[in-house]
Formats: sequence, C-alpha cells, structure tokens
Amino acid sequence: MNATIEIVPSVLDRIRKTLVGLKMPRALEVLDQTLRQLERGETSALEVIDTLFAEELTLRENRRIKTALRMAKLSTIKTLAGFDFSFQPSLDRNRILALAQLDFVDHHEVIHFLGPPGTGKSHLATALGVEAVKAGRSVYFASLADIIGALAKAEREGQLRERIRFLCRTSLLIVDEIGYLPVIPGGGNLFFQLVNARYERGAMILTSNRGFAEWGDVFGDPVVATALLDRLLHHAVVIQIEGSSYRLRQHADLMPEHVRSKASINSPIPAQPPRRRVDRQKMELPITLPADHPLQPGNFTSAPLGAFESELCANF
Ligand code: ADP
Ligand code: MG
Repeated sequence: MNATIEIVPSVLDRIRKTLVGLKMPRALEVLDQTLRQLERGETSALEVIDTLFAEELTLRENRRIKTALRMAKLSTIKTLAGFDFSFQPSLDRNRILALAQLDFVDHHEVIHFLGPPGTGKSHLATALGVEAVKAGRSVYFASLADIIGALAKAEREGQLRERIRFLCRTSLLIVDEIGYLPVIPGGGNLFFQLVNARYERGAMILTSNRGFAEWGDVFGDPVVATALLDRLLHHAVVIQIEGSSYRLRQHADLMPEHVRSKASINSPIPAQPPRRRVDRQKMELPITLPADHPLQPGNFTSAPLGAFESELCANF
C-alpha cells in the first residue's frame, strides 16, 4: 500500500534543474504527471524513479537507433516481423530468426542470400541490418555498384586506403544487388581489396540474383571472381531462395510461365542442401585456374594481392 507523499515545491524545483543539468528532457517532461500519480497513491516512489529513468532511456535508445540507421544508409526499413515466410516456403524461418541473434556478426561470417528478383533478398538483408543496429552494432548498406563506384572514385583521388578503412569500420557490411549491373573495368579488383581487408575481421551480407558459377561473368574477370569467392565462402552461410517474386504476386496470372515458376539459381556446389555452412577445404571453386596460378586456393596467404589489403584494418 502506498503512503501519501507530500511534494515539497523547493525540492521539486531542484529536481527539475538537476534533470535539465543532466540533459534528461524526457524525464523532465513526464516528471509532473508521474508525481501526480504518486500523490494520488497510484504509484510508489520506487516506481517513479523507475519511470523517469526508463522514459529517458527509451528516448535515447530511439535517437541512437534513428541516427545509426541513417548512418547505415538503411533508407528503407524492413523488419523480420514484416516478412511473410508463408510466401517463401523454401526459406527456413527458424534459420533466419537464428541469424537475427547476430552470432554471425560476432564471428565475422558472411551470409549470402541468393535468388531471383523479388524473392525478399534485400528485405531480409535489411531486416538483419536493422536487428544489428538495434543491438548496438555498426552497419553499412550499399549496392555493389555504389561500393565499387565509391572505391573507384577514391582510387582516382588517391584515397583508396582511407575508403577501404572506412568500409572496414562497421561490424556488418551489407552488399546488395551483386549481378544486376555490369561491374566497371577494374571494379572486381577494387571490391576484392575491400573483401580481403574485411576477411575474418568483419561480417558481411551479400545478395545476388546470380549463382557463384556466374561470378566470373559478373566481375568480368574469372581470376578475381575466384579470389573473391575463396574469401566469401569461407565461414559462410548460403541461403538460397527458390520462389516467385513478391512484387509480382498480384499479377501472377499475367506473367509468362518462366517468370512465374520457381526460377532457381545455379549453385556451384550441387547435391548440397540450400542452407548450410560452406567449408572452404571441401569446396570446389566454380572457376578453374591453371595449376601453377598464384591465386589457386592454398596459395592465397602468400599471394601478392593480399599484402596491402591485409595490412588495412589491422586495427579493426
Ligand atoms: P529482392 O531483393 O530479392 O529482389 P526485395 O527484398 O527487394 O527482393 O523484395 C521486393 C519487395 O517485396 C520489397 O518491398 C519487400 O519488402 C517485399 N517482399 C519480398 N518478399 C516478401 C515477403 N516474403 N514478405 C513480405 N514482403 C516481401
Ligand atoms: Mg534486392
């Protein structure tokens, strides 16, 4: 039972000034109504303290998340709650929810979402990014074309090292839309430098409508594609979505059969379940290199391409 409490005006005035001094606007805002509840015996003194701090914390958390989402360039906010798993039966809901626990971020792993357009790859990548931001991790989201464009610009301006360092600073880098637009000449090499700099130092989520076997075409360079995949499939989770486009769901009857049907992506590793961890030792790379090529798997640690990049992010 709550005892009646007398609110002494001079003490109340001092509390207000203290809250201003401590920069606690939300606590100040709810102070009067909370104290009125206290006077009426509807709440206890302990609960008043709890309410004031909780309200202030919520305000700060919301501000932090808003700023972090802006910095992450997650302009369109998507959530896991907003994802209709019944529309994509090929997806294991529990597997995706487990990813939202963010162990992959702490273990610096790579998640690949593969599938035809409209199947929710960007939605899921964004939703995991939002979860990471909420949990206090730093995130950066960009399309492959934008990342390569930014790296190319930085290289022209003699700022490549700084740009790669910037892209290594976030705990999670989301690279969207691999395979939609042709990569500019030299772009694959620039992206490789970034991937190599983040390798085993920071988590990534990649989305693509193209199978790994097509990465030689996507990057216009099979050697770079092989080197990229070597890093990006080590400590990786591959999630292949085999379904139809959510965007076109209301127009399914107007679509040609080859678009409507479950368009699947060529997996480089046949006879494997769609969701699994990839072990580099057991993986066959989709692109064949000459036996003595310096970028053959196994030679990577001594490959000259790695020297400059691995020095980057050493303090990550
Ligand atoms: P993709 O990146 O695979 O091309 P998107 O993630 O951009 O596809 O999805 C296209 C649109 O459809 C987005 O607005 C997304 O939020 C929505 N969407 C896709 N799949 C689902 C789903 N299963 N449940 C709810 N919305 C979905
Ligand atoms: Mg997309």
